[in-house]
Amino acid sequence: MNTYLPFVFFQGEIAPVHKAKVPIMTNALQYGTGVFAGIRAYYNKDKKILSVFRIEDHYQRFLQSLKIIGVNLSYNDKELIRITLELLKKNKPKTDIYIRPFAYAGSTNLSPNLERDKDFDIAIYMLPLGEYLPINKGVSTMVSSWRRISDNAIPSRAKISGSYINSALARKEATERGFDEAILLTEDGHVAEGSAENLFIVRNGILITPPVTDDTLEGITRRSVIQLAQDIKIPTESRTIDRTELYIADEAFLCGTGVQIAWIAKIDGRTIGKGKRGPITKKLQELFFSAVRGNEKKYQSWCTIIKT
Ligand code: PMP
Repeated sequence: MNTYLPFVFFQGEIAPVHKAKVPIMTNALQYGTGVFAGIRAYYNKDKKILSVFRIEDHYQRFLQSLKIIGVNLSYNDKELIRITLELLKKNKPKTDIYIRPFAYAGSTNLSPNLERDKDFDIAIYMLPLGEYLPINKGVSTMVSSWRRISDNAIPSRAKISGSYINSALARKEATERGFDEAILLTEDGHVAEGSAENLFIVRNGILITPPVTDDTLEGITRRSVIQLAQDIKIPTESRTIDRTELYIADEAFLCGTGVQIAWIAKIDGRTIGKGKRGPITKKLQELFFSAVRGNEKKYQSWCTIIKT
């Protein structure tokens, strides 16, 4: 079970974590009518600082998710950032953490509720988080028998809590069969992403990822990886990927806020490349892990530094 940091933002104020409770009838609980974000903050023991990674971008996507489902929030991005940083200072974490803002339909009315005239409620909580999937071992994946939600069914570029039943089904199938993670295809059979990660492959020295129009979440780590790759002159393509290209890729990796960058050793029992971390993945991992901790001058604008 996860342990959470002692303070949360709940019902308009900073409160102890045990106060953050809602009734069983809550619409978001019943129907998944909520949107969320997941932000990492990295702790530097020597400097006693936290580096919060791309907080502006995460809140921008959070507000875009609300816009997609046509719901208001009575906080703008600046206020959300201010509250989050205030909460961080109050929680004073001494480890790498994960921040979870959650906007939800707090109504206890019976029917699914996305009323225009009623704002969503907002809560923000935090927890220590190490590796979500192994980063160094090489993960073993399977192509899921579940399809990724399509944008016209449940908007896939929005981080909607109800849509995570799709991730949960795929993850359950994969882990019960002994794999670390699932890769989901779109309804028309192209590669979309992992259950909570975007996916990249390398073929003939080119870094390739599905376009954001292939039912993927518009990942902030994905965007960062593309930028890093371009900056170190790795040719990059965002294009539709066939399932069988996965099997013959030279390298493959998953990326996301939780997973960071985890290289893939196997897909459906096929060894990817030489079954080792590939050179392009290694370069990107090293640069990424340095950048998120605020150690790369060029990418310091991605990091919000907080003294704790
Ligand atoms: N796809 C899905 C379905 C996710 O849940 C996540 C995690 N937020 C990602 C991709 C990666 O997105 P990000 O890099 O913004 O965390």
